[in-house]
Amino acid sequence: MIAPDLETAVARLRELIEGSQVILPFTGAGISTECGIPDFRSPGGLWTRNKPIPFDAFLASQEMRDESWRRRFAMEESFAKARPGRGHRALAILYRAGRVAGVVTQNIDNLHQASGIPAADVVELHGNTTFATCLDCSARYELGWVKERFAAQARAPDCPGCGGHVKTATVSFGQSMPAEAMRRAEAMTLACDLFLAIGSSLVVWPAAGFPLMAKRNGAGLVIINRDATEHDDIADLVVHNDIGDVLAPFISH
Ligand SMILES: [Zn+2]
Repeated sequence: MIAPDLETAVARLRELIEGSQVILPFTGAGISTECGIPDFRSPGGLWTRNKPIPFDAFLASQEMRDESWRRRFAMEESFAKARPGRGHRALAILYRAGRVAGVVTQNIDNLHQASGIPAADVVELHGNTTFATCLDCSARYELGWVKERFAAQARAPDCPGCGGHVKTATVSFGQSMPAEAMRRAEAMTLACDLFLAIGSSLVVWPAAGFPLMAKRNGAGLVIINRDATEHDDIADLVVHNDIGDVLAPFISH
């Protein structure tokens, strides 16, 4: 069923939430657009104008690593300023009420953690751009440290500990999906009886497979997204209204 209006969408979503034991929110870029985070993949988005640097190119040249970090610093204003939106806050309320055990996200913006959900319960399929790690020894580096080093030596720094390359903790194109995050996302998908796909166009695989997996396993499926998705026809509820508007009523209670 596609909700004909906002009021129906909220009422039906409330019924589904109240009738479920284990709710799994799965979030994509759409939940963060009201927070000022650009949707890189959208038409006209950053990635259609500025082609992403694939992982092998990052590994292969200092020049690409420098360019990758220059781009990241250019986006820092958006990321540093962003605060959780109404969708993030509603999910944090459901988490605190014990209705949601964790969140699976395609986002790299750290906003679920900022809304109060502990990092251990946020499964990030594409990593996190708010800090960096060494690709060899996994040591963590803060962006401020990278920026300082970059400015001092006019090139992207390597790990002082082992000499490995330092990269934002995101999953780049051509980089393998994080096995542990994928395993946890699958386990959480199979454990839920209501799967909420929020703000994801559900086209990027393997992430797009999770709603299908949940549905086949007998869970209810809700899709809240501005645009239609390929999975709309199998969903129990489809909502094309604004995500913040749909989830705001769940912030208060
Ligand atoms: Zn290292």
